[in-house]
Amino acid sequence: MFEPTEAADRPVRLLGFWGTPENRTLPDPAGLVDPDWDEAQRLWVADYLAHGLVAGNWMGASRCRLCSRANGSRDLTDGHYLWPEGLAHYVLDHGVRLPAEFLDHIERRSRALEELERDGSWWQRNAART
Ligand SMILES: [Zn+2]
Repeated sequence: MFEPTEAADRPVRLLGFWGTPENRTLPDPAGLVDPDWDEAQRLWVADYLAHGLVAGNWMGASRCRLCSRANGSRDLTDGHYLWPEGLAHYVLDHGVRLPAEFLDHIERRSRALEELERDGSWWQRNAART
């Protein structure tokens, strides 16, 4: 899922960070809600987001901008994008739609992982070496 050498070649893209009253250059999640977004696709995207690797921990949980619940205190990444862990909640529970380019990225990554060539020889040679 994460290739550090690949990630070092370019900056990771930030995703799902929201504007504040002091900084309105980032979007408001309320403007991205799509009540018609297919639930199966929202589940698929939220599941992907929930399984990123931890890229940072923050003091204290952020609050959901739409329902005020505590919504995570970590940043997660797949080595290409980096998002706050609460982004899965916005997608799943509020229908906050993410850019099509990101959905295409998930599709490509998932397909590539399913199609990985598998080699069991390393495990056979090393399983008993502790
Ligand atoms: Zn919420």
